[in-house]
Amino acid sequence: MHQPKPALPTLDEVRSHIEAAATPALLMLVAHITGDVTVLREEWRPDPALLPHGRLDPAEERRVREFCLARLEGHLESAEPWPTRPSAEVLAAIGAWSLGPGVSQAAQLLDAALVPDGTDPRAPGWTLEEEAPGRTLRAAIIGAGISGLLAGLRMKQAGIPFTIFEKGTNVGGTWWDNTYPDCRTDVHSHIYTYSFFPHDWPSYFSRQHVIHGYLRRFAEENGLIDHIAFGTEVSEASWDDRKSTWRLSTTGDGADTTHEFEVLVSAVGQLNRPLIPEIEGLADFSGPAFHSAEWDHTVDFTGKRVAVIGTGASALQFVPALAGTAERLTVFQRSAPWLMPTPELRDDIADDERWLLRNLPFYRAYYRFSIFLPRAIGQLDAATVDPDYPPTERAVSAANERLRVMLTDYLVAQADGREDLVGKIVPNYPPGAKRIVRDDGTWVATLKRDDVDLVSDKVVRVDAHGVWTESGDHVEADVILFGTGFTASEFLTPMRVTGVHGKDLHETWGIDACAYMGLTLPDFPNFFCLYGPNTNLVLHGNLVFFLECQSAYVLSAIKVLLDTGKSAMSLRPEVFDEYCDEVTAASALRAWGWSKTHSWYQNAEGRSTIMWPLPAQRYLEGTERAHAEHYDFI
Ligand SMILES: Cc1cc2nc3c(=O)[nH]c(=O)nc-3n(C[C@H](O)[C@H](O)[C@H](O)COP(=O)(O)OP(=O)(O)OC[C@H]3O[C@@H](n4cnc5c(N)ncnc54)[C@H](O)[C@@H]3O)c2cc1C
Repeated sequence: MHQPKPALPTLDEVRSHIEAAATPALLMLVAHITGDVTVLREEWRPDPALLPHGRLDPAEERRVREFCLARLEGHLESAEPWPTRPSAEVLAAIGAWSLGPGVSQAAQLLDAALVPDGTDPRAPGWTLEEEAPGRTLRAAIIGAGISGLLAGLRMKQAGIPFTIFEKGTNVGGTWWDNTYPDCRTDVHSHIYTYSFFPHDWPSYFSRQHVIHGYLRRFAEENGLIDHIAFGTEVSEASWDDRKSTWRLSTTGDGADTTHEFEVLVSAVGQLNRPLIPEIEGLADFSGPAFHSAEWDHTVDFTGKRVAVIGTGASALQFVPALAGTAERLTVFQRSAPWLMPTPELRDDIADDERWLLRNLPFYRAYYRFSIFLPRAIGQLDAATVDPDYPPTERAVSAANERLRVMLTDYLVAQADGREDLVGKIVPNYPPGAKRIVRDDGTWVATLKRDDVDLVSDKVVRVDAHGVWTESGDHVEADVILFGTGFTASEFLTPMRVTGVHGKDLHETWGIDACAYMGLTLPDFPNFFCLYGPNTNLVLHGNLVFFLECQSAYVLSAIKVLLDTGKSAMSLRPEVFDEYCDEVTAASALRAWGWSKTHSWYQNAEGRSTIMWPLPAQRYLEGTERAHAEHYDFI
């Protein structure tokens, strides 16, 4: 396939920005345009962990860029159209080159990795009117975060009437609620983006307000805002057996109301309800005390003594941002986080590089490809338990041990001989058992400051003036900040959801939530969850991609339903059971399921209902389309 010649930059324009080009993406682009895979030379092969950047020596990088420019010259100047996609062979060669030897890749993942600008491969190619003229089918979506907005767009593309109920006052979910200092994504922005709706990201890992701006633009440009009922919380959703509809009870905007829909999509997120641990005496504290997701911007930290409870991903962002302003910061940690070295974490993208991303056709697509593919395959192996190793709380396999050594060296080198700090900052559990947090050296540098203390002693009590630890120390504080995460495994709470014959979703789940591909379960007809149980990712995969798979599946399921002419579809119990067994068995063999360390990846009984434990490829296959034979129809 070829596309009409895009509005191309001139050769001189490309030349004047080429110094900023990531050489791997450039070489992939040249292989695509020329069809010549010999340009992907062995000596220019990137380290997958460092992509999108090549990190050859600077002189060699210059040579690669000159080489690419020479290869592109004719194509930029000729009137010939450019191929829209490379052949399967060329794409496979590009994938193999970027992943390195010995890494098996799957054709579907390769295809998913390449989404050229102006394309939307997962958009439904049908409409309700075409499939079932005159049929009433309305969808309710709960939540207007990155998941709910995507579901809304897909409904809109299929011509399905829909309403998004959002308890907050704006779109964005996580990226609207979390306004603490230096809140940013720790997934590369170019893959924390809908694949079909690119953005001119200013930094490699963008800040909260930038991500929120992107999601707001997405909602506005796609005409979704008018479909959103803001300030409206869904308190209950119940299936009406007689009418085959979902009845939603909502509160907010001064009125309690009920609504009726044929299809229900929950997009309430996993990390939307802040978790503040129950600590004796907290109510007696005389100063401000709040959670990172509910930041009180009226508090001036200048000269304040601040106690921070928790060292999860959020605390690792806001603590360094407060250091230097607060008089003293005391950080209480239950267990230390593993840190993934990411030098560019707080760097802006150079203007020249942004120019290439905006203007050189296919450069952005390969830039994304080069980040997406290696991380989709990721390091699942390094988090997989080898029963013969034997697994311990140090490491669960030889590969896990290698990762541990690499990450330990990174931490120890920064401690700079301070043995007291090494003892506290090197985790005592296997890498992958908890979220690995990205770091550019800021965390340990912050802990080494004279005005920052790291305390590993357990917090047991709070009084008016500060925090008591288990050892009997009292730390005086003017402000307490909670970086203690969310009620992640309490999926869909506090909503009450009832299915066929009034069956209660939370009673059905207990503390072991499970849904087929995180999406749906028996006796809850026409009901789908986005970012549901077991769809979070640690070392492999990418959440936005998973959300794209989920939304595509929901639309595919609706099409299956329409094709049958029936009112409702409910997952067959045997499909559900087989799937849940597969996921439970796989979870037990991952570091996060095996380790006894406490984390939000595990529920109260130590089982993981949060993480996706299988290769990303398995998820892609499992969600590619809904199969009629997986469902009972009503
Ligand atoms: C600080 C922070 C940083 C993160 N960083 C990353 C990252 O770098 N990479 C990554 O992959 N993930 C990250 N995450 C996870 C993040 O939550 C997801 O990436 C993503 O934003 C989830 O989107 P969502 O739309 O599914 O849920 P959310 O963004 O949580 O949105 C859910 C929406 O549903 C609404 N809602 C909930 N219940 C109801 C109800 N009953 N009625 C009406 N509305 C309701 C909420 O108000 C909210 O707007 C981070 C999370 C946090 C908290």
